[in-house]
Amino acid sequence: MAAGAGDWRRALAEARACTHCASVLPLEPKPILQVDPHARILIAGQAPGRRAHDAGIPFDDASGDRLRAWLGVDRDTFYDARRIAIVPMGLCFPGTAKGGDLPPLAACAPLWRTRLLNLMPEIQLTLVIGRYAQAWHLPEAGDVTAAVTGWRAHWPAVVPLPHPSPRNQAWLKRNPWFAADLLPRLRERVAELVG
Ligand code: SF4
Repeated sequence: MAAGAGDWRRALAEARACTHCASVLPLEPKPILQVDPHARILIAGQAPGRRAHDAGIPFDDASGDRLRAWLGVDRDTFYDARRIAIVPMGLCFPGTAKGGDLPPLAACAPLWRTRLLNLMPEIQLTLVIGRYAQAWHLPEAGDVTAAVTGWRAHWPAVVPLPHPSPRNQAWLKRNPWFAADLLPRLRERVAELVG
């Protein structure tokens, strides 16, 4: 059953106020997510980066620009929670290590993920980005390349994607079918849903 307006607003406020990992996070807890019960597309990503933490805006960077291009949507559409929800596996910036950001905080998804996703009964397309989100949403799908290569198995409800980071340029070059086959279908599907 769909959550009432008070229910989802309360759950979102509670998630945004979460400090569960304060003792292990490198910065203050700052959950960054976009939720609305009318959303039809869910972006299931990894965790906010430092720039998202500072700005309080998810995907406001080169990765976001590439993701919007993949989806064929502009910023207004992307940041319209009534159309597109954004709930990463870890809601707070986890810190960095050599070579990139640390994994999402393991405690986060068990605490929040099911509760938040249950607030959005109209989701018809879940974009599962990167290995941490794929391990949760598509646990049988294998590594990122195997999961994305097998995208037709989950179509049209779930679409596994590689991370849109510029660091993934080599993967995109090795897998030209991704841009040639998957992305045109994905753009059509997104256009239907955000219409
Ligand atoms: S990562 Fe998740 S569980 Fe940890 S403080 Fe942030 S919102 Fe809370």
